[in-house]
Amino acid sequence: MTASYSFNDHTFDVVVVGAGGAGLRATLGCVERGLKTANITKVFPTRSHTVAAQGGVAASLGNMGPDDWRWHMYDTVKGSDWLGDQDAIEYLCRHAPDAVYELEHFGVPFSRTEDGKIYQRPFGGMTTNFGEGIAQRTCAAADRTGHAMLHTLYGQSVRHNAEFFIEYFAIDLIMDNGKCVGVVALDMATGELHRFRSSIVILATGGYGRAFFSATSAHTCTGDGNAMVLRAGLPLQDMEFVQFHPTGIYGAGCLITEGARGEGGYVVNSAGERFMERYAPSAKDLASRDVVSRAMTIEIREGRGVGPNKDHIYLHLDHLDPKILHERLPGISESARIFAGVDVTKEPIPVLPTVHYNMGGIPTNYHGEVLTLKDGNPDTVVPGLMAIGEAACVSVHGANRLGSNSLIDLVVFGRAAGIRAAELLKDKAKPELPKDAGENSIARLDHFRNAKGNTPTAALRLKMQRAMQEDVAVFRTGETLRQGKQRIADVFSEIPDIRVSDRSLIWNSDLIETLEFDNLIVQAIATVEGAVGREESRGAHAREDFPNRDDEKWMKHTLCWVDTKTGAPSVDYRPVHAYTLSDEIEYIKPKARVY
Ligand SMILES: Cc1cc2nc3c(=O)[nH]c(=O)nc-3n(C[C@H](O)[C@H](O)[C@H](O)COP(=O)(O)OP(=O)(O)OC[C@H]3O[C@@H](n4cnc5c(N)ncnc54)[C@H](O)[C@@H]3O)c2cc1C
Repeated sequence: MTASYSFNDHTFDVVVVGAGGAGLRATLGCVERGLKTANITKVFPTRSHTVAAQGGVAASLGNMGPDDWRWHMYDTVKGSDWLGDQDAIEYLCRHAPDAVYELEHFGVPFSRTEDGKIYQRPFGGMTTNFGEGIAQRTCAAADRTGHAMLHTLYGQSVRHNAEFFIEYFAIDLIMDNGKCVGVVALDMATGELHRFRSSIVILATGGYGRAFFSATSAHTCTGDGNAMVLRAGLPLQDMEFVQFHPTGIYGAGCLITEGARGEGGYVVNSAGERFMERYAPSAKDLASRDVVSRAMTIEIREGRGVGPNKDHIYLHLDHLDPKILHERLPGISESARIFAGVDVTKEPIPVLPTVHYNMGGIPTNYHGEVLTLKDGNPDTVVPGLMAIGEAACVSVHGANRLGSNSLIDLVVFGRAAGIRAAELLKDKAKPELPKDAGENSIARLDHFRNAKGNTPTAALRLKMQRAMQEDVAVFRTGETLRQGKQRIADVFSEIPDIRVSDRSLIWNSDLIETLEFDNLIVQAIATVEGAVGREESRGAHAREDFPNRDDEKWMKHTLCWVDTKTGAPSVDYRPVHAYTLSDEIEYIKPKARVY
């Protein structure tokens, strides 16, 4: 071990990395079951990106009209463009109502109907009776649902005495012969290193939107857990599926929730035309996000964008009752004022499709256990390792996530992970750490801390973000993707020339951002590789050179490994789970998507 570093050692039953909605729900589930649980988080828990979630959390409560979990399941399968695993989707939709009532009982201050029930708004792709009508399924606390959930879950975790390690940066997993036995983290305030030995590590580290230039997600959304998994020699799944949200504020990237269209907002082009009527005659402005994002991109491309450069679209809310805006959409009214200088009661908001969500991530089953492809078995469980939330690919969102289906995914699978951890840990002894445990983390940290090249991390990061934004966009072709692949490979090859100017270990943001960039670049490689390979259009992956969905060839998940030393990717595939969990619903057969 490098002489100047030493470890503080800890032993836990479970270590959860991440204190967003998923991580907190899992932490709570573990401590409630008597497991000694640590939660490691690089930001203060209530600053996790979940705090920014606006529109709401989907569950078929039926408070505002008839609803059924089977209809929710049908919509989720269809929204996923049939790439979602139907056993996992059944688990999600069936358990969603209970998970929301549980949140209510924990204390989440949901908005209410006249008769005191949880308020539910319509959201894109959410229908009644297997596609017939529009469902009101999205439970909301005004337009600050994630904020309400995160604060409540943090309060509950503290109440149950979970041990938090706040502003600790997890560097890498400790693996022993294919099994996960712990994690290494840096206390960013003091520079001390900590080694956590545990029977189970649950990664809940969120998405990696920041691989792109314009994203609605926080700057901390760098997918660190995904990269740890790649460095452990394990694959990521379906990384080519990146969701663009139709209504990011032009220039700033901040989100205007789909709930704005749920409450009656609509988008127009330079002719003032409500063009969604042409692209999705039935769902119109509430078609799913991939559909609306593509329609907006086509309008702009064909010269019907708004503004001096005709490069964006207008979202109108000014026809809505100001009282509704004030009650139901106060947060986005404020964002529009601050970031676009717009009074939503009088003027439209300038918007543009913006990177919003990563459908891909760490492959898991519906218990949260991480999977890999080994000896021909695509569902081989990696012992000791679980993943949940946006970091995971269960896969319930398949090729495209429906709005409000992420928050429900966090709590349903966060809860499932706690249940599974308790089952697995019955009478189980703690694993011993291998002799060299954590040395690879120290080597990586020390390497970047002393990086003396000529290129600041920020310059390389910007190059990567621009390449991803331009070449791995809403529409893709073999040519743009191959160009993107080359640009990303070039960025990777410049890593040895990185310069970190701050050598200290106390609040060294230069070093932390370098570790985050090093995490992002390998995910960028996996994303482009998956996208180059997938010669079809499905969900959020729209190939102009392969405009049709090809179920015969491509009804399968992409698995991508990246050799993090050389940057070389390799790809294999897993079959989609074409079966449900119970006989209460049959496998939903693929059909063309009609909007
Ligand atoms: C602006 C916005 C609005 C949204 N609105 C909605 C909505 O209305 N409905 C909906 O369903 N979905 C919505 N989404 C999506 C949804 O909010 C996210 O997918 C979800 O919150 C992700 O939660 P998470 O728990 O997986 O991760 P996050 O909330 O991103 O938390 C990640 C956690 O991991 C920790 N972490 C990461 N790396 C490390 C590391 N190296 N070491 C230690 N800790 C680490 C962080 O500190 C943090 O606590 C929205 C997303 C955005 C960006």
